Amino acid sequence: METSGAQTVGATTALTIDLDALVGNWCRIRDALGAAPGCSGAPGGAAGTEAAAVVKADAYGCGARTVAPALYRAGCRTFFVANLSEALDLRPVLPRDAALAVLCGPHPGEEGFYRDAGLTPVLNSATQMAFWHAVPFAATWPCFWHIDTGMTRLGLDPDDLPPALPYPDNPPVLMTHLACADEPEHPVNPDQVARFRAALDRIPGGHALRTSVGASGGIVLGGPYHGNLVRPGIVLYGGNPAPGHAAPLSPVVRLQAKILQIRHIDTPKTVGYGATARVEKGARLATVGIGYADGYPRSASNRAVACLGDYRLPVTGRVSMDLVTLDVSHVPEHLTPPGTMVDMIGPDYGIEDLAQAAGLISYEILTGLKPRCPRVYGPIGPGREETA
Ligand SMILES: *Cc1c(COP(=O)(O)O)cnc(C)c1O
Repeated sequence: METSGAQTVGATTALTIDLDALVGNWCRIRDALGAAPGCSGAPGGAAGTEAAAVVKADAYGCGARTVAPALYRAGCRTFFVANLSEALDLRPVLPRDAALAVLCGPHPGEEGFYRDAGLTPVLNSATQMAFWHAVPFAATWPCFWHIDTGMTRLGLDPDDLPPALPYPDNPPVLMTHLACADEPEHPVNPDQVARFRAALDRIPGGHALRTSVGASGGIVLGGPYHGNLVRPGIVLYGGNPAPGHAAPLSPVVRLQAKILQIRHIDTPKTVGYGATARVEKGARLATVGIGYADGYPRSASNRAVACLGDYRLPVTGRVSMDLVTLDVSHVPEHLTPPGTMVDMIGPDYGIEDLAQAAGLISYEILTGLKPRCPRVYGPIGPGREETA
């Protein structure tokens, strides 16, 4: 088993990342793209749709330097990170025939890093285009043009598109990003595709260029939202881009915490900071060694559960920095000796469940996991429903 991050000896948490499940999620997306109905209706004329992988934010907390090479071995050849720092960190472990694209794009003085590390810039503004197209190697260097069609975040306003391609023999890949792909019925989705097509109209030969539209949500929406290169992030890591709709892929992450102490309650008591929970005589509580300093959200206080076998253990009282108290009154005592690991996130209570209980999104849960949790790469095992 590969490990990374904190020392495992003496840790009271364990973060297991199932690389096979993660790679399997990518493979399923890649395989489904070949067969996706409506692919021919995708914006852009070039044939076929490729699956990239978004590995920004340390592969959503799963360890980019382990995840990206595993995806490369499965055939992934295009990776996206948020900034140059992430790209430079990842490049040494990714072979040069993998494109490594930087979403925030290059800034003056960084071009040498792009050249030496073989990085692909995403050009997001007229200023960034003017700067990049003047660098000495731009004529032969790949790049993306990110056209803003409704995010109003990064991206070129369609009015900023140049009247002609600066290097017609080396055209950019044209990309856009969807704002509402987590809501399949949202009218902004078709609007953005229409705006993207209108932007392609303005570029000579624009409809023959490669395009990249869908992230995880767009992949689920289907062909017109794909383009020739999709950019899945959260689905690779087991998150659901459209909560409320069936989670399409396998869980990848398991977060366990160790029972440190069992408390037998013989008179009514309050639990934790703020005395926000009350337990009665006869209750039994397990204190586990995880807290918000590990990335377990404080907003899960009195709302989330942990799992032990088929049992659900309610979080009782506030989550503190290093500790969480669970109600184990209904669990046979021999199952909860100190030292027992319980699942705070697992196959039966996934990142979406915890996110929903805590009023967060799965992206925040994953990227919020802290270095104090030692990371172990290995199987996370099937959920109870699957074994039943
Ligand atoms: C983060 C990001 C993605 C991946 O999004 P998911 O919803 O995690 O699939 C794709 N494209 C861009 C531009 C992004 O910023």
